[in-house]
Amino acid sequence: MSAAARPETETLHTFCRICESLCGLEVTLEHGAITKILPDQDHVATRGFGCVKGLKQHKLFSSPDRLRHPLKRVGSELVRTSWDDALAGIGAKVKDLRSRFSPDAIAMYVGTAAGFSVLHPIFAQGFMTGVGSKSMYASATQDCSNKFAVARHLYGFPFTQPFPDVDHTQCLIVIGANPVVSKWSFLQVSNPIERIREIEGRGGKVIVVDPRRTETAKVASEHVFIRPGTDVFMFLSFLHELFAQGGVDRARAAEFMTGADEIEALVAPWTPERTAAVTGIEPGKLREIVATYRTAQGAALYCSTGVNMGGHGSLAFWLMECINALSGNLDRRGGTLVGRGVMDFPRFGVKNGVLMRNDRSRIGDFGSVNDAFPGGILADEILTPGPKQVRALFVTGGNPLITMANAGRLKRAFESLELLVVLDILPTETASLAHYVLPCTSPLERPDLPFIFPLLLGLQSKPYLQATRKVIEADGEQRDEATIYLDLARAAGVRLFGSRVAQWTLEAAKGVRSARRSGKQPEIPQELLLSLVLRATGNGGFAKLLAEPHGRLRPDHQEADFLGRRVVTEDGRVHLAPRELIDAAAALDADFARERAAGSRLRLITKRHVATHNSWTHNYEDFVAGDRGTNHLYMHPDDAARAGLHEGDLADVASDTGAVRVPVRTLADLMPGTVALPHGWGHQGAKGLSVASKTRGVNVNLLAADGPDRIERLSGMATLTGIPVDVRPAAGPQATESWSGLPEA
Ligand code: SF4
Repeated sequence: MSAAARPETETLHTFCRICESLCGLEVTLEHGAITKILPDQDHVATRGFGCVKGLKQHKLFSSPDRLRHPLKRVGSELVRTSWDDALAGIGAKVKDLRSRFSPDAIAMYVGTAAGFSVLHPIFAQGFMTGVGSKSMYASATQDCSNKFAVARHLYGFPFTQPFPDVDHTQCLIVIGANPVVSKWSFLQVSNPIERIREIEGRGGKVIVVDPRRTETAKVASEHVFIRPGTDVFMFLSFLHELFAQGGVDRARAAEFMTGADEIEALVAPWTPERTAAVTGIEPGKLREIVATYRTAQGAALYCSTGVNMGGHGSLAFWLMECINALSGNLDRRGGTLVGRGVMDFPRFGVKNGVLMRNDRSRIGDFGSVNDAFPGGILADEILTPGPKQVRALFVTGGNPLITMANAGRLKRAFESLELLVVLDILPTETASLAHYVLPCTSPLERPDLPFIFPLLLGLQSKPYLQATRKVIEADGEQRDEATIYLDLARAAGVRLFGSRVAQWTLEAAKGVRSARRSGKQPEIPQELLLSLVLRATGNGGFAKLLAEPHGRLRPDHQEADFLGRRVVTEDGRVHLAPRELIDAAAALDADFARERAAGSRLRLITKRHVATHNSWTHNYEDFVAGDRGTNHLYMHPDDAARAGLHEGDLADVASDTGAVRVPVRTLADLMPGTVALPHGWGHQGAKGLSVASKTRGVNVNLLAADGPDRIERLSGMATLTGIPVDVRPAAGPQATESWSGLPEA
């Protein structure tokens, strides 16, 4: 409907697609323009919850900086071009590269934003399948590949992810996660503060283990400090103590699992007394926590990015899963549950090889996780000559130049590419380097369903389904990503998914003529495709689901619904001690010795403000007003005093990889010896972001190492938290044009 034809005022219901909370929203429009977004009070699951990012998202999306037309590089400038010209130029270059090199020379990076759309990641993969390339990279290697890698070993499929039964647990132990600000990951739960208070209200306990007394810790029953990067040793001692206190359900382990004896042998030397030397957790306190967990009627350990990104993410998560399983809490009410999506996705995936490839990387011989290679070797794959050297990169729904390790080296690698194509809604730092920038519709400009986690896996504390139409029409030539990949496939002379039928059918359905008549952009029939997904899984059509604007509840998760029934390993049992993980654990003694020897060098962690989300919410004035226009280095007052720094001083922060210059804030909530620097900043290179480029924040990922020798072998993840750093008074002023705050070398 055109803006003129829309009613004067209308109210629509949709859901937010910024983070995994997927909050139900009520949108008010006047003459087709959004004037207000409120939380949907009647939503079946999110019940009136929403945060400032979701409620102001229309301001971000309607920015004058928004990408509204395709751009192509002419000399040092990006200039406006037509879709036909952009597609032809990209298609010709892909053909040229395929004629000269292996198809793997054409790579793709899929960012987090793609995961909040059903069709975007499917069509992006379809394009790469058509090209014949396996060179896929994903943002998961920044923050969660460890969970996928471990789950494949333990449960047989990477997306089998047990989650805490938040609504019934009597003891929730949160390690390296801050749901009050960042919400939950791998689980959709609304209103974290309310849910934590509900646990405590029914006599349960919430314990937060974190190097910072986080916003979540402040509403929890108890907070315990842990030295950054030492979670794996805490989990070893937790397991040691669980065995020692008789907290292992051996009968259940014997019936449904393998490897309990090997785990017992592995953790035997790791007493709480031994690991206290590096974790900083008193042995008595750890024993008390284990006892609380062991005796609760339903208990769960839950971890997120603070553990995932800490250098031992896979081993730490593995041990945590072993604790939940061996204690009898896996598949138990109040413990951890394994959701049911609209289909048995793990069984489908194993049967059809979806997300189960065993590719090896050219650089470093890393195994693929979820059919993607580690982002930490992307620069090497681009810069290292050889038959499969990456020469072209498609970046879709992400901004790797800000979010990936050793961003300075990655920038130099991107500058050497023969073709860099960025699909986005805003001209990001990565887009600034591109040869072509393709403008995409925002979440409010496309129909959708909640994607993988809720839809296919039921990772929701309250399972439900919801559909949304487009809330508004795009105000330029933006197109949805699925349509773009269909067109790119044709332009490059390949077929989406390698299928002539798929390519032909979708092209025929695109409605080019009617779009031309109406002056709109041609697009594939998204609602029809989403309807097919729903019908194929027995959930009626899209229109039927739309008739329930506040969502449709699905059956609640049940206990005793996973073990012995839905584990997709070859023998149907949970493999607690897979050879690859046991072998990797052999290095822990040496790592422990190194950790002890590290002494008092400061450790850097990340921190998030409620108004920021990774790298892309800094282009709205209200979110970066006043002193919010930069990130700060947070230091414990004692550490600041030792370094000769005071509140507001500029500090130089140096790791073994890089250095940044940033103002200091003192924060007594930090564990002494820990400093915190929020990520997602450093926008000075994005000249098209008129607000964000004037912020003064620095890119923390300049301090993180990349390369095959510096990333975790099991998951391919870089260490993005717990990084050893030195901090001293700045040697000069902050350079406002540099994303490190330092003068450019
Ligand atoms: S918590 Fe905020 S950003 Fe996340 S889905 Fe809800 S409204 Fe959106």
